[in-house]
Amino acid sequence: MTRYIFITGGVVSSLGKGLGSAALGALLQARGYTVRLCKLDPYLNVDPGTMSPFQHGEVYVTDDGAETDLDLGHYERFTGRPATQTDNTTTGRIYTSVLSRERKGDYLGATIQVIPHITDEIKAFVREKDGSADFVLCEIGGTVGDIESLPFLEAIRQFSNEVGTTRSIFIHVTLLPYIPAAGELKTKPTQHSVKELMSVGIRPNILLCRADREIADEERRKIGLFCNIPFERVIPALDVKSIYEVPLTYHGEGLDTEVLRCFDMDATKTPDLSVWTDIVDRIKNPETRVRVAIVGKYTNLTDSYKSLNEALVHGGIANRVAVDLKFIEAETFETDGHIHALEDVHAILVPGGFGQRGTEGKIKAVQFARERKIPYFGICFGMQMAVIEATRNLLGLKGASSTEFGACEIPVVGLMTEWVKGNATVERSANVDLGGTMRLGAYPAALKKGSLVESIYGSSLISERHRHRYEVNADFVPKLETKGLSFSGLSPDGRLPEIVEIPDHPWFIGVQYHPELKSKPFDAHPLFVSFIKAAIAQSRLV
Ligand code: GLN
Repeated sequence: MTRYIFITGGVVSSLGKGLGSAALGALLQARGYTVRLCKLDPYLNVDPGTMSPFQHGEVYVTDDGAETDLDLGHYERFTGRPATQTDNTTTGRIYTSVLSRERKGDYLGATIQVIPHITDEIKAFVREKDGSADFVLCEIGGTVGDIESLPFLEAIRQFSNEVGTTRSIFIHVTLLPYIPAAGELKTKPTQHSVKELMSVGIRPNILLCRADREIADEERRKIGLFCNIPFERVIPALDVKSIYEVPLTYHGEGLDTEVLRCFDMDATKTPDLSVWTDIVDRIKNPETRVRVAIVGKYTNLTDSYKSLNEALVHGGIANRVAVDLKFIEAETFETDGHIHALEDVHAILVPGGFGQRGTEGKIKAVQFARERKIPYFGICFGMQMAVIEATRNLLGLKGASSTEFGACEIPVVGLMTEWVKGNATVERSANVDLGGTMRLGAYPAALKKGSLVESIYGSSLISERHRHRYEVNADFVPKLETKGLSFSGLSPDGRLPEIVEIPDHPWFIGVQYHPELKSKPFDAHPLFVSFIKAAIAQSRLV
């Protein structure tokens, strides 16, 4: 029997609902249960694929090619369960599906309304998970009280009423702000937020109270009294240094125990949390530190590189080192003087990106890493920049660029119009819609025998997630290989360059895919483990 846990948020956004949900998932797993996490997003975009990373943070891509919310990345990193297309939906997607059915005549004779048609569609999204796990954790994006969230709250209220309180509970995440003048944490916003939730018919079973300092019992009791919640279910969720401490601290405050008690389930056994204790120990007691430069363009919103930041942390955990990230705006390299910012780093990474701004700076960063023999990791756009750099500076073809920035003299990176997915060929033309039409999701690559990547992966066939529109033009491969580059990973049909490396360099790898999406704290991606190892070696040289 599947049980449902709905997670809502109140008071303000960015309370870490996604992280809390993911951590609860990990705690239930540690007690031997299977979990599935999903997210309902109240915005009107069909998916976040077309949103600016500045607006929404990273777009997380699943194996089955969905462009989803970054919280799905947390879910996967904490539970190890690969997220899928059906784990995230939005108001836009719900309406699109209802409206296309209306046009087909599926509702002939009816007036289409938010209740029941939209709410039914939302409930169907939740219900189709039935039987897929012991617990389905369903996070509602946004903040209670927003106009956009109402249909979702109404839908989960109805859903809970249908399956009953023995199979569904509500957890509400709130904030207790500290007011310095009063010298205390304030409970009123939480009381109001719960009141708001009650006004739509939802009574939370558990409150997860975020605060930047200890919550006194007196305050917990007060919240319990005003919100009709037993004291032990008013759970303090205090700030921690590393997100990987969250499962342990929430367990310490009784979150998983109370969840099981809400369902009348046995909560007496102690969960095995040794994986998390080990991770936290490695984070808190590193043997040394390394500094990695991330040369990008969304550097003032580090959420845009969420999975990447985490994958680097995972590489650090595996090597028991602390990884300090130095974010550098690529544009600052375009005036020569600034490249010195790379002098003190032990490794350089150019991440995924879109559009021309900052590209000349990224190319300079690649050249610096290649010539100075500093470990270099190019991810997606970062691989494309590495190939453009080599074409310009090693082949002497100064007009080399990507057609992403308009027509160019030497299109070493260009638009491919078809590729093979499974047994079928996917075709794409230059003027299709921009939403959902990139090369998305898991694709295999064959690795060259004896290459660095083959030894890192310990395999000659890999599968990694993609999200890009442009490809390295395979026509340039033989010429670039005469200059010391090695295209050590190709699509199995040999048409698309997937990986480039420089054998005569301590560590220089560019990949057309996003390895960071599959990295976990307890199972770091091998490329990140190896990259951080190379950074450690570099740190010993300087
Ligand atoms: N802008 C490039 C492309 O579309 C790279 C995309 C990326 O880095 N994810 O191919």
